[in-house]
Amino acid sequence: MGEILIRTIDLSKEFRDKKAVDKVSLNIPAGSIYGLIGRNGAGKTTFMRMICGMTEPTSGEIVCKGEGRPDYGKIGALIELPALNPKLSAFANLKLKCLAYGITDKKYIMEKLELVGLSLVCHKKVEKYSLGMRQRLGIALALVGDPEILVLDEPINGLDPQGIAEVRDLITYLNEKTHTTVIISSHILEELAKFVSDYAIIDNGKILEESTMEDLEKRCTDSIVIKSSEVDKVISGLKDMGIEDCKISGKKTVLVYTDTERCAEINMNLSKADIPVESISVAGADLEEYFMKLTGSSSKIR
Ligand code: ATP
Repeated sequence: MGEILIRTIDLSKEFRDKKAVDKVSLNIPAGSIYGLIGRNGAGKTTFMRMICGMTEPTSGEIVCKGEGRPDYGKIGALIELPALNPKLSAFANLKLKCLAYGITDKKYIMEKLELVGLSLVCHKKVEKYSLGMRQRLGIALALVGDPEILVLDEPINGLDPQGIAEVRDLITYLNEKTHTTVIISSHILEELAKFVSDYAIIDNGKILEESTMEDLEKRCTDSIVIKSSEVDKVISGLKDMGIEDCKISGKKTVLVYTDTERCAEINMNLSKADIPVESISVAGADLEEYFMKLTGSSSKIR
């Protein structure tokens, strides 16, 4: 893992008797697109508001670059709906935000509009904009002051597939071009999975899992499932075949991550070595299924 930009340690926020965020310890790598995934009410917005300094934690810490609290001037945020004036153009909306930062250069404003793909329509009133265009303008507003960290709360919520693709491409582009670290929340896991590098799953204020997308994809690819009463022997038998990427799952199951065509060969080799195999099969894992198991929910997160 690369350098950690933001680390939270037991970060918590309580509202009366509700623990909206409950001892959340996360490591957000510098330069990552970090996805915070969870259902409505899971605690995503509250967590993001604390990262941005918009609300104080009840307890716990936020440490930036191993030093202390983040420099809030270096964080750009789009939390819930962007604060736009619908009667003004995109250009005028941005100009207002720039003024607050002491920026009066027209070129700077146009640069931001170009970045989010709105330069050609920037003199149109925002009330004529689609939701996707408004979200992109919201991101442009968050980019004023050239933040190191961009915090985007549910930016794809309510967008059609085209709008989602545009926001996704924009975030990927910003991350690659300006190396901005992006923290993005959503309840639509399949969408986030398409472009985040790291993720955490939050449910009921608690983190259920934090990992990299690469690792998750690996875990959700097809695997060979071996049922045996002697799982340790199966593991060593697999090692003798040069297969290291396997793990014990439950009392009698070994999951093997290798070319699933090797199923018959594995079966033969294990029986040659007198290792009992009750069954061997190929299982496909699906991202959605994985999350459902993790959150213990009977319905999809989305
Ligand atoms: P959503 O996507 O619906 O905004 P979320 O994952 O962002 O969900 P939060 O908005 O952080 O979740 O809310 C987490 C929990 O804390 C919810 O149960 C919510 O009702 C509660 N909560 C949030 N803000 C407050 C507040 N100001 N006062 C009281 N309870 C609050």
